[in-house]
Amino acid sequence: MTSAVADRRGRAARRSGGPARIAAARSRLADGKILGKRFTWVVLAGYIAAIIVVGFGVRFSAQPFLDQMQREAMTERAAARAREIDARIAEVVETILHLKSDESISRLVLGFDRVTYKAEDVLAELDGQKHVRHAILDYKGTPILRSPGFMLRESKAAFSAIEFYSAARLLSVERPLAEAVRLRMSDDDGMAHLLVVLPIASRGLVEGVLIVERVIELPTVASVGLTAPFSDSDWVVMSNFQLGMIGQWRDLSTSPIHARIGDTGYSLVRLANHEEIATLGWDLVQSVLFVVVWGMAVPFLGMVVFGRGVISKPYEALAASRQKLARSQKEVAELAQIATMSHEAILVTDRDQRIIWHNPAFSVLTGYAEEEALGRHPGRLLQGPDTDEETVARLRAAIASARPVREELVNYRRDGKPYWVSLSISPLSGEDGVVDRYVAISSDVTHKKLAERRLEDARRQTEHHALHDALTGLPNRRSVDGLLEAEIGSDDGARTLVRVDLDHFKAVNDTHGHAAGDHVLKHVSDALCAEIHETDFAGRIGGDEFVIALGPGRSAEDGVALAERLQSAIRRDVVFEGKTCRVGASFGVASSEDGLISNRQLLVAADAALYEAKEHGRSQTVLYTPEIHAGVQDKRRLSVEIERGIENEEFVPLFQPQVDAVTERVVGAEVLMRWQHPERGVLTPDQFLPMATRLALVPEIDRIIYRQGLRAAAEMERIGQGLPKISFNVGSAQIEDPVLISVADLYDIESTTVAFEILESVLVEEQSSNFRLQVDRLRDRGYRIEVDDFGSGHASVVGLMQLNPDAMKIDQRLIIPIISSAKTRDLVRHIVGIGRSFGISVTAEGVETAEHAVILRELGCNTLQGFHYARPLNVVELLDMVEERGTIRPGQTGDDPLPAGHSESTA
Ligand code: C2E
Ligand code: CA
Ligand code: CA
Repeated sequence: MTSAVADRRGRAARRSGGPARIAAARSRLADGKILGKRFTWVVLAGYIAAIIVVGFGVRFSAQPFLDQMQREAMTERAAARAREIDARIAEVVETILHLKSDESISRLVLGFDRVTYKAEDVLAELDGQKHVRHAILDYKGTPILRSPGFMLRESKAAFSAIEFYSAARLLSVERPLAEAVRLRMSDDDGMAHLLVVLPIASRGLVEGVLIVERVIELPTVASVGLTAPFSDSDWVVMSNFQLGMIGQWRDLSTSPIHARIGDTGYSLVRLANHEEIATLGWDLVQSVLFVVVWGMAVPFLGMVVFGRGVISKPYEALAASRQKLARSQKEVAELAQIATMSHEAILVTDRDQRIIWHNPAFSVLTGYAEEEALGRHPGRLLQGPDTDEETVARLRAAIASARPVREELVNYRRDGKPYWVSLSISPLSGEDGVVDRYVAISSDVTHKKLAERRLEDARRQTEHHALHDALTGLPNRRSVDGLLEAEIGSDDGARTLVRVDLDHFKAVNDTHGHAAGDHVLKHVSDALCAEIHETDFAGRIGGDEFVIALGPGRSAEDGVALAERLQSAIRRDVVFEGKTCRVGASFGVASSEDGLISNRQLLVAADAALYEAKEHGRSQTVLYTPEIHAGVQDKRRLSVEIERGIENEEFVPLFQPQVDAVTERVVGAEVLMRWQHPERGVLTPDQFLPMATRLALVPEIDRIIYRQGLRAAAEMERIGQGLPKISFNVGSAQIEDPVLISVADLYDIESTTVAFEILESVLVEEQSSNFRLQVDRLRDRGYRIEVDDFGSGHASVVGLMQLNPDAMKIDQRLIIPIISSAKTRDLVRHIVGIGRSFGISVTAEGVETAEHAVILRELGCNTLQGFHYARPLNVVELLDMVEERGTIRPGQTGDDPLPAGHSESTA
């Protein structure tokens, strides 16, 4: 970890985990809670203060007013009551006024006609009313008529009324009604009694009075006493005069509440004192306060509850956001510092993608100074011709949709030098959450990109190598197989294929060297490329083997024509380092147009045609025909049959006797295989051996032949006609087969020597140490080793020396012509000479005539084998021959003949 990174991490740790910070944050949040509590207390205090203020306000400002109101209300009530009383009085007065002039009452007063008292009903009616009584008095004041309960104590008043009215009458002055109305303060019931006194006149003289008394049900001043304290409900009736007097002798700060009762000269008075009124005011204050206390409790409680939400909660949020802001400001400052110190180029653009800030690393990377970069569009500033347009489009799309994006692209430095960057762009949003800037971080990945590109190139090259021939650049076997499979195998239309195989190419290599060979191959591949059509393709599928797949629609004829053109092109002299090289080519053409084969079989078919071309003298073009097809089919069938033949042991041995050149006695027999084909009869090796070789089935057939040959030899020995030697043809690989020895042990062979014929070609082949070891072991165990077909190709004397065989068999192709060719004779003589000098017995094969026998005997061959003596024979025929000629051990002379059936050990 670099120190810068460590520092950064340390800071980050302090930022996130410092205990002091946590405490501060906690205290701030606690502040919020305290604020909430304080708020509640403040509201409560406000509530109490409000109640007190309202209380005092009401007490001091509203109370006098309330007192006044109270007074007025009481006064009003008094007035109402007074009116009520007045009305009742008026009612009574009204009722009795019309009795004033009633004659019956006057007559009654005058003393007559008592009976005809008309006003009786009216008066009775009056008396019937509650608290109303009446009386009629004569001029002396004697009651004439008196209703129950009416008291005479008022007679004085009545008389004064009579006097009064009489005087008035005399003076002819109308007296107001008020004069007729008097109040009597009754002692006995304490009530105010109203007296209405009506003078009853006759001929201008007042003869008596009608008095109607009404009880007003109010205490009189006299009854309550003016000195005694008034009770709440003390309404009294007093004369207006009395009322005037009260104000003087009673110490009252305010005048008593009163109301005049009409024109009666009396007033209804309430002598309530000031204290009482103040108490009433206080009650009012109390009830106002009661309403205020409860009425204000609801809104204040609401304030406590909601005020916290509205005031303290936002404060808490504010405190928290301030805290966050402080933190993020610190972070931003740190980030800015990091960005400035960063080795990666960092730039910030505005909404319109103009660079508004970049760090020093940006200048280092791009070569642009701050004043050159600010305000510029980064894309226009840094991108250039090699910048991938698709990548740029992806960047633009991401920016347009405010997505973060990361891409690798080519940028250009100020000096025009291109470089690769890994660029990541992220949108930045402002406080409102709307993206208003972009930050782009880029790091130079040129080295990585170059390495990647080198890797990619290497990979492509490897891939090309894997699929192409390094020398000619043509597709190789692998890719041809793939192409054929993919292009042709799946094509429904007919296609044509040409196989090309150079003739004698090996000779070019051998005589002019591999460089020349390569040169020739290039020449051929150039010819191929020049001659083929655009839709064709050519590939090299082996050392000197090529294949051309013609494009769709091209016929077999086109294939053959192409082969012909190629033939002449390839045949042209190729000069390499001053030496002229010449090669020819064989062509096999196959087409699927006649429906004989499918597209998938084309390569095999072209191969078969090529094989035919090679077989028929090379430098030819052979078209795959129905005949070839039949041959191929035959071969296919043959291969199946060989396998079946092995399984059924259809392979049998024949024996061709070998005779001593001098005595012409039988020295041994070569075992030659035959196939007893169930349908085609006896087949010779040339009919099946090549196929069996190709199928690698020869060793299996050899084993069969080996067993049967040994069995026959054992049988002949058993019947006393044993062969001195029995020879088997074996391949070099079989020599190493341990079965050779073990199988021989199974048969009871004592006097017959087992010999193995190994082809001369083995001598020149690289022999494995195991091969030689095996040969030695075989020889140690008494087996003979003979070299077959000596002189057929190599005649390697060195090989012969190394193998040191017991015998060498001169190829029949050298033997047969000796009659006519002196040259061949000389050759054979030389070979015999070599054999002699190495102490190797010499056998001549293909001894067809007596003449051959004579010459070969003269040339010094030891053993003779050929049709002149016998064709390959079955066991019975062989036994006949042995019996006829007798046997002799190889290497023994004719002077020492062995009678038939008597073999001797060579040991
Ligand atoms: P080879 O080993 O050279 O066998 C001699 C061939 O020459 C035999 O042909 C034989 O029939 C033929 N021959 C013998 N005398 C004369 C003659 O006077 N004139 C002419 N023109 N031919 C003569 P065959 O039996 O057809 O065998 C052909 C080849 O097949 C053999 O050539 C040998 O290479 C191979 N062969 C035969 N039998 C076996 C076998 O059991 N195992 C193996 N691996 N190869 C075998
Ligand atoms: Ca042989
Ligand atoms: Ca031979």
